[in-house]
Amino acid sequence: MITPSPGIECSDAVTIRKTNPALSGLRCIRCQRFWPIDDYFCGCPDCFKEGYPASVAPDFEYFPPVLKPENLSDWLAYPGQPLLGEGNTPIIDLPQLAASMGVGRLWVKNEGANPTGSHKDRMSAAFIRRAQDVGARKVAVASSGNAGVSVAAYAARAGIACVVVTTAGMSKGLVQAIEAHGSEIITVTNSAARWELISDRSQSGEWYPATNFTLPAVGSNAFGVDGYRTVAFELFLSLGPNPPTDILVPTSRADLLWGIVKGYLDLRTAGLITELPHIHAIEPFPRLSRVLDGEDYIGHFDGQSPIKSLGGTTVTYQGVKALLQGRGCVATPPTELTIEARCILSRVGLYVESASAIVLSGLGLLRQASVIADDASVVLVMTSHGYKEGL
Ligand SMILES: [Zn+2]
Repeated sequence: MITPSPGIECSDAVTIRKTNPALSGLRCIRCQRFWPIDDYFCGCPDCFKEGYPASVAPDFEYFPPVLKPENLSDWLAYPGQPLLGEGNTPIIDLPQLAASMGVGRLWVKNEGANPTGSHKDRMSAAFIRRAQDVGARKVAVASSGNAGVSVAAYAARAGIACVVVTTAGMSKGLVQAIEAHGSEIITVTNSAARWELISDRSQSGEWYPATNFTLPAVGSNAFGVDGYRTVAFELFLSLGPNPPTDILVPTSRADLLWGIVKGYLDLRTAGLITELPHIHAIEPFPRLSRVLDGEDYIGHFDGQSPIKSLGGTTVTYQGVKALLQGRGCVATPPTELTIEARCILSRVGLYVESASAIVLSGLGLLRQASVIADDASVVLVMTSHGYKEGL
């Protein structure tokens, strides 16, 4: 474990400013009920009581008249400069890969370029602003990978204690990074036990949670998920004259998928676009696809995949809503296709996690099914670099 030597003061913690003046409250994404600004860890209280948990999302009275790279965070519940340089990730044009996949244009949005190497930094930055605003003394995250190391880094940046609740098998490199940030790691026997522990400590007020702890599941902390809207804003700014027709997103409980769709919906509300791209979910075994086929989203979805970052046996309402609003489909590529996709991406210089490469194998399946047209302009959202996998 890496710890500062005695006598070294760590006094660079930042102070976060308060909520966006345009933020009026939070709105349930299922029943549309409006709630005052507060924390709703189990999502909308009415939908929770009904047995159909659903996320709430920050609701804004107005948006700034223009969206520019320098005012992008003015659209968030908690505006402010990047805390560790998160966001503004590269978008990479891959014409040869586009030709081999049989589409008109193909870009990769490389979220692995974030400070801790994954898209989670957008959520962690937004989440930690909220945690500091409510005076949280200790934040908590259930994770066996990217989210754990990301929240640990941003908690350190804000000078807030952090606990990462995980199951056995976290890689040595990640354990070392989390401990180096000064976070505590608690290892429990299974995912249910993770959520139970975080539920107990959060409801007692001891911990401030970043991630879901209820079953059926809801999305992560609403103020954290709000940070994912910036992916849509950046794509809009980067590709303005050539907007994508299709965006593919690796999906488990759909925080990122929903955040991107919500960002595009807000761009439409603000009058900056008239139509959303088709925003598709790619998952390692059937969950959302079963719901689209008629199963209830609050069910249990067993399945096996070696792609740990996209594991879990639950579906969230935000995933279902994102597909409906984003006019998206679901693809479920077999692991061997994703391994092949990872090799293909490595050969064009992009070494990404399997949980990112899955969107390229998903593109292959959506092309075969003629869901994506041969003149399509496609963005593949790659969530994390590959260095952490297999450490
Ligand atoms: Zn509701």
